[in-house]
Order: sequence, then structure tokens, then C-alpha cells
Amino acid sequence: MSTVTVTLPDGSTLSMDEGSTVEDVAYEIGPGLGSDTVAGVVDGDLVDKHTPLIEDVELVIVTPQSDEYVDVLRHSAAHVFAQALQREFPEATLTIGPWTDDGFYYDVTGVDLDEDDLETIEAEAERIIEADYDIEREEVPREDAFERYEDNPFKQDILETEAADEDPVSFYQQDDFYDLCQGPHVESTGEIGGFALLEISASFWRGDEDNETLTRVYGTAFPTEDGLEEYLEMRKQAQERDHRKIGQEMDLFSIDDTTGPGLPLYEPNGKKILNELSDYVGQLNRDAGYDEIETPHVFRTELWKKSGHYDNYVDDMFLLEVNDEEYGLKPMNCPGHATIFDQKSWSYRDLPVRYFEDGKVYRKEQRGELSGLSRTWAFTIDDGHLFVRPDQIEQEVLATVDIILDTLDTFNLDYTVQFATRPEKSVGGDEIWEKAENQLETVLEEQDIDYVVEAGDGAFYGPKIDFAFEDALGRNWDGPTVQLDFNMPERFDLTYTGEDNEDHRPVMIHRALYGSYERFFMVLTEHYNGKFPPWLAPEQVRILPVSDDNIPYCEELQAELDDFRVEIEDRSWTVGKKIQVAHDDRVPYMLIIGDNEEEAGDISVRDRNEREEKGIDLAEFRDHLETEVEQQRTAVTFLAGR
Ligand SMILES: [Zn+2]
Ligand SMILES: [Zn+2]
Repeated sequence: MSTVTVTLPDGSTLSMDEGSTVEDVAYEIGPGLGSDTVAGVVDGDLVDKHTPLIEDVELVIVTPQSDEYVDVLRHSAAHVFAQALQREFPEATLTIGPWTDDGFYYDVTGVDLDEDDLETIEAEAERIIEADYDIEREEVPREDAFERYEDNPFKQDILETEAADEDPVSFYQQDDFYDLCQGPHVESTGEIGGFALLEISASFWRGDEDNETLTRVYGTAFPTEDGLEEYLEMRKQAQERDHRKIGQEMDLFSIDDTTGPGLPLYEPNGKKILNELSDYVGQLNRDAGYDEIETPHVFRTELWKKSGHYDNYVDDMFLLEVNDEEYGLKPMNCPGHATIFDQKSWSYRDLPVRYFEDGKVYRKEQRGELSGLSRTWAFTIDDGHLFVRPDQIEQEVLATVDIILDTLDTFNLDYTVQFATRPEKSVGGDEIWEKAENQLETVLEEQDIDYVVEAGDGAFYGPKIDFAFEDALGRNWDGPTVQLDFNMPERFDLTYTGEDNEDHRPVMIHRALYGSYERFFMVLTEHYNGKFPPWLAPEQVRILPVSDDNIPYCEELQAELDDFRVEIEDRSWTVGKKIQVAHDDRVPYMLIIGDNEEEAGDISVRDRNEREEKGIDLAEFRDHLETEVEQQRTAVTFLAGR
């Protein structure tokens, strides 16, 4: 009998008979490990512990202590959901039910579910968990599998595609419920310690909008009840901070059915914040030697053919016919910027050339993927492109990373950094790749930045450094980026004249400090929980007259503060209600003005943290606000600093 070599995570190897299972390997290592084994990761794929090994593999044994265990548990929870659903709604048709990063979902059809139904199904699921049914793998002849699913076109589709080569086909069974499945699963339903169904949304079969609409039920599961409770608490906090909720409460933005999906409308309050954000990076860019340019939203597809977007990106582009000619909304700003560079002849002394634009782009994301500002069809990038000589890469990347760090610091955002290197398929010679990667790495080392190397994860056109924001709840979002590009200068035949009087190819650097404004706006809204620091707050001060008689004095105060965004609350409410509403609107400062203040010619100040102080000189407050806004920092608010 032939043997296979199994390489374990510590690098050690075992020689096993061909056809030995993951579980056999675990028993070979030790009986304790053998009986603990839940599943295996074979060459990166999570598989059932009964999977036979038929060639040399790298193997990780999954036990309840492994990171992968929770994925196995959650997928088992998806089966428990499916069984509970079928008990309550026998007419429901099952499609697929994978695990996700923080739970599972199951796409179903033939049943109309609402929140109350989820409660009923959840209660039934609890009974299934309580009953602690064994979950058993079953090998079913292909023909019988089709028979089992004669009324389920979705499972038939899976049998004809993913499972096309399988005979017999694997099912998992618990009690009288079975599901077509590769596994792996936990031993029994009782291993699930905490189970919850979370929400319902719509999806499409195979994620394709041209296919049937399905109902997606999201849930989660944990080995312990405590784990679930902790998660639900985090989720509640996240929902309270949800930028869609805060955006509505503060009149920041909306997305309207009539105007279209994924197309955000910024209301005056939202636009005030956007303007501040744009001014902030605009200043950084100008200080760093950038020139501002502007390009339109639409170009002839000739441009997209030249840039390569038409070949590689056309499915995500919005195209339109005008007078028998094809145009496309721009999915990226770079081709426009490269064309502007190409309008002139450049000498080596002119480089680097640095352009920037707050450029609106349009990308046709799957409708089901659109969500608030995190994924949209239209978004604006604080987009910059540099055209540099190869020997200038390091200095320019260093300067770019510098302003990225400034930006992150200003907003008090934590971040992680990835350095992505040359992928297998790439353009550009070995020499330039090696030099460029060295220069990027030098910058990261010099700046003392903690980073992870993502080997082979660079774009085909060049290596890159990506920053990801970490928000107040520890979630990561794509953020600033610096990408080298050896390809676009080729495609656009960009040149400069070198010292040797010959034509040379510049290197292009794509960079953004925020990434997308929409994504950044979302991150900030949730990061600050809507309590934007005064320099960003749409309304910086609200003056609350105690009675209507105090309004003229309030107007004098407002005039004194005319460098700031100040409103007077003139609705005839009690002071208590006025404070409450200003608090809900998250206005940084309230000035409460009654007869006492008016007679003394001073003000009472109240902040968002419910600190209040009377008898304050307006000039003192104004000076502080000026500094606070100028410094663009949140650190010390007026009352906390006194
Ligand atoms: Zn399954
Ligand atoms: Zn670009």
C-alpha cells in the first residue's frame, strides 16, 4: 500500500497509509487528540474529519480549542436553523447555509418570514439543541440524492455543479433532518451553547440579480451562552452607532428609492462635514506640493480601452450610448489624470508631478451588497496621482505615508498596515519590482510602522501599502493606500526627458488619504458616535433662550460668534426640552441664556457630557472655540479644560 506524507503546523511530518482520514492522523499523534478531533484543515480547506488523504498534504487538526472550531459550530447551527424552519414551515425550500465571520446565514424560499417567525423558529431550534441529536455523515448514491431533492431546483443545481463529480454524495443527518453538505460538523446539536437568529434580508440565488430572489436569515452561534451574550451586547452597541441611524437622526445623508440604490444624497449637515474633510486634505495636499485638477464624470470608452478598464472592469461600469458612441462613467480617476500629464512634455527636472482631485467615481456593485455608505454605486475618492522618476519613489512614498499618518492622528483612528508584494502575474521587470519593494519597505521601517507583509498580494501593476482603520468597536475598514504602478505609464506611453536627453518612463503612484469619502464618513460617524469634534460638527454651538424675551440678546451673541456655525433654538419649548433636543442633535456646545445671563452680560455653557457652568465671559469661550476648531483635535473641550 502506498503512503502519503502529512505535514503538521509545527513542520513535523508523518507518513500515513494512503486513504487514512484526518481523524486517523490525529489518533496516530495521540489518543487524546484523536477523540477531540472535530475536523481538519487540509491544504487550507476546512474538511470533515473522515476525509481520506490521498496525496501529500499540509494538515491542521481542528479541536474545540482551535480557531476554526467556531466556524464548524456555526455551520452546524445553520443546519439546526434549517431543521427548525422545516418543522415550523414545511413549505420552505432550502438553498445554501454557510458560516460567516460572525455567524451563519441560510438562504431560503417558498416562505414569507417576519421578525415574529424568527422567534418561533429560534424557540424550535433551542428544542433541537436541547435534544442533543447526533449529527452524522451519510453517503448517498447520486441517483437517490436527486430523488431526495426532486422538488428543490436549488439543491439539484448544486448537485449538477459543485457536486457534479460526487457519487456517492455526502449528506449530514440529525434526527429526521438531512441536508446535502460537504461538512464538517460538530458531533451533536447539543455542542451549540448559544444560538440566536438576528435578521432577515433579501438575496439572490448565487448572488446574481437575474436569478430568483431568496430570503436570507442571519443567525449566530457560540460554544457558550456567555459568548453569545457578549456578542449580542457588542452588536447592540454597533447598532446604536450605526451611521445609517445617526445619519437620519442628524440629517446628514439619505439614500432614496426614487433616486436609486447606492446613490447617497448629502443633506446640508452632511455637506458641512464633507466640506471640512475636503478642506483638511486639500490643505495637506497643497502643503505637500500637489496641484489640484478636475475631470468630468464621464469619458468616451476609448479612454477605458486605453487604460485597460474596458477589458477587465467593464461589468462593473455604467455605460451609455451617445450619438452612436459609447461612453462610460468613470470607475477610477487615474486615466483622466494620466491624460492630463500627457498634455505636456516633461523634463527629469520637472518630476515629481503631483495631481489631486476629489474625484467622484461610479462602480456597479451587486445591489444586494449595497449598504448605507459602506458600499455605494457613487462615491468620491480623495484621489492623488504622482508621476515620479524611479529614483524618487522612496522620497515620495515617505512624504505620502507622512501625510497619511497625520490624517489618522487627527481623527484619532487606530489602524493596521499591510504591505503587499509582487503577485505571480505582474507587469514590469524584476529589477524595478525589486527596487520598488525595497523602497517601500525602507519607508515602513524608517517610519517605525508595524506592518504585515502580504506576499504576492500586490496589484499586477505594482506593490502597495494599505492602511485599514480600526473603529471604536474593533472593526476594520479599508482606508488610505499608496500603490505603485508600472503599467499605466506604459499604456498611456507617458515619458519624460532624462538627463541623457533620452525618453524615460515615469512611475505612477496612486494614493488616497481617506480612501472613499463615503466609507470615511461612515467610519467617523460611528467612531465618534455622531459626536463630531467641533471643527467637523455641522452645528458647533446652539444658543438656547430661556424665554422668547431673551432672543434679542441671543442674536447679539450669535453675531459675536459669526466665525462659527451657530443656531438659536427659537421654538417655544421649555429649557429642559431644548437641552434634550440639542443633546440628541449632538451639538458640542449649548449656551443657555436667561435673564441672569442677560443682566450680567455673560453666558452659561453646557457641553455634550452634561457639564454646565454659569457666569462665563463670551470672549473666553470664543477664544477657546477658535483654538479647538483650528487645532482640529478633540482632546480638550472648553469645560473639561477649565
Ligand atoms: Zn452543512
Ligand atoms: Zn489611481
